Amino acid sequence: MGLRSRFRFNALAAALGLGLAAGHAAPELELTKFVFEKAEMGVPFRVSLYAADEATARTAADAAFARIAELNGVMSDYDSDAELSRLSRTSGQGRAVRVGDALWKVLVRAQEFSARSEGAFDITVGPLVNVWRRARRKQELPAPELLAGMMARVGFKKLRLDPARQTAELLAPEMRLDLGAIAKGFACDEALAVLRQRGFPRALVGGSGDMAAGDAPPGEPGWRIEVAALDVAGAPLPQVVFLRNGAIATSGDVFQRVEIAGRRYSHIVDPRTGLGLTDHSLVTVIAPDGMTADALSTTVSVLGPEQGLKLVEETPGTAAQVVRKPGERIEFLESARWRNVPKAGSTPTQQPTTR
Ligand code: AMP
Ligand code: MG
Repeated sequence: MGLRSRFRFNALAAALGLGLAAGHAAPELELTKFVFEKAEMGVPFRVSLYAADEATARTAADAAFARIAELNGVMSDYDSDAELSRLSRTSGQGRAVRVGDALWKVLVRAQEFSARSEGAFDITVGPLVNVWRRARRKQELPAPELLAGMMARVGFKKLRLDPARQTAELLAPEMRLDLGAIAKGFACDEALAVLRQRGFPRALVGGSGDMAAGDAPPGEPGWRIEVAALDVAGAPLPQVVFLRNGAIATSGDVFQRVEIAGRRYSHIVDPRTGLGLTDHSLVTVIAPDGMTADALSTTVSVLGPEQGLKLVEETPGTAAQVVRKPGERIEFLESARWRNVPKAGSTPTQQPTTR
């Protein structure tokens, strides 16, 4: 597809007095921005990169998309052949199953976030997510007994990981793992790594609410990213931030929700109550990598601003913004490091992920 914007790298870099990092594009090269889009993991993914010509850009982008497709084949809970689905089917059988490196990385991080949030983040939430998906289709609240029954299959302590053997065991019957809150961020990281390996460090990969950025566009402080806005009257205007060598993720019921009897329920479920969130919030997290940004934004959504932002302060290199409307009033909160995030309109001198 190749949307392009011409750019004379050398001239502008010289005008701005920028040094050229060793090993990057040859200084005499004229770099052009190319953008490619493809549906992956059920959402539109976008790869933006600076390259000398369209053919090399397209080949690199194709490799990045192929990596995302490969990860979907591992981490999908829709595809019954995916490694994740196969693992879910072993639940309650007393079997520890060896898992591949990519899935292992994600499972380990997910369990870290569960432990740190005392179960607010929980990839064993699958059975509850399914119940709420059905509620959305039928426009009908799930029966309390049904939710209570599902709770028996949910809980991160029912997923046991053995690092020595790289195995996972699902301790209760009929468990179902759901990586919807963490896999897209990881896929962005992996796609970016593919681009970097192929010699395209100036790249941005995004899928739905998750994005990971490599080096900045030539002559820019970072990739310009507009932070999503809460979809209610009176919500603050969206900010534009500059991102480089870091990631950003947004989580909230703006994207997916169901309204039943005048109440709005999010696709994000509180595993401790079994209920879809109702506080109508939008959480944006900036982190050193996509997997962290993705998992943390969902975690903060469930924990709420007070405990959520505390967790952000305790997580090195991360910053967050929360906009919510739990009742009549709109609340707007930021973590301490959010102030250091370079924004359009200010003079960005720092990395978005300063500590
Ligand atoms: P995100 O858009 O990254 O916030 O992820 C939301 C998705 O994560 C949902 O559509 C579910 O698939 C899954 N999910 C819902 N609630 C939770 C939770 N409490 N912990 C982890 N994953 C969740
Ligand atoms: Mg997430």
